[in-house]
Amino acid sequence: MKKSANVKSRQTVYIGFGSNLGDRRANITKAVELVKLIKGIRLKKLSSIYETDPVGGPPQAKYLNGVFSVDTKIGPIKLLYELQNIEKRLGRKRKAKNSPRTIDLDILLFGDRKMNTKNLKIPHPRMHKREFVLRGLRELLPHVHARGVREGYHRRKPVEVL
Ligand code: ADP
Ligand code: MG
Repeated sequence: MKKSANVKSRQTVYIGFGSNLGDRRANITKAVELVKLIKGIRLKKLSSIYETDPVGGPPQAKYLNGVFSVDTKIGPIKLLYELQNIEKRLGRKRKAKNSPRTIDLDILLFGDRKMNTKNLKIPHPRMHKREFVLRGLRELLPHVHARGVREGYHRRKPVEVL
């Protein structure tokens, strides 16, 4: 029987990362190395890594942020599970929302898929408002308009253009 194209086809996924605790650059390097070790994943592009001011949460140190893209055969739920394992391995403690973290790995875009479950929302619902995410995405996807990734999902006026 023919398998559904959606399940087995390779998708390009954009993942945002951030760190503001411990050796930030080392945390990011380790996280990227661990992502490369996930079976069924191939790293494609890595944006520059830039310093940003924290958004929300308690007073805390500045972040290093960026975005990378991967080619993947694995599905979004399994990918989230793998990314959360990497966060744990790098010592991330889940505390209050927007609290300091050794590493944060967020799925921003997963091919053209949309998901809206409690634990996984794709495209990432806040990405178009976060300059620290958009900056990396712009580097990897210079021709993409923000409205394209959120249209039909967030029913707001499409105003920003990346
Ligand atoms: P945030 O990234 O918003 O600062 P966390 O990293 O603590 O906060 O994530 C909180 C929850 O967000 C996770 O437990 C995860 O289930 C959920 N989540 C929903 N959509 C996504 C996504 N696209 N990528 C990563 N996590 C997501
Ligand atoms: Mg996160």
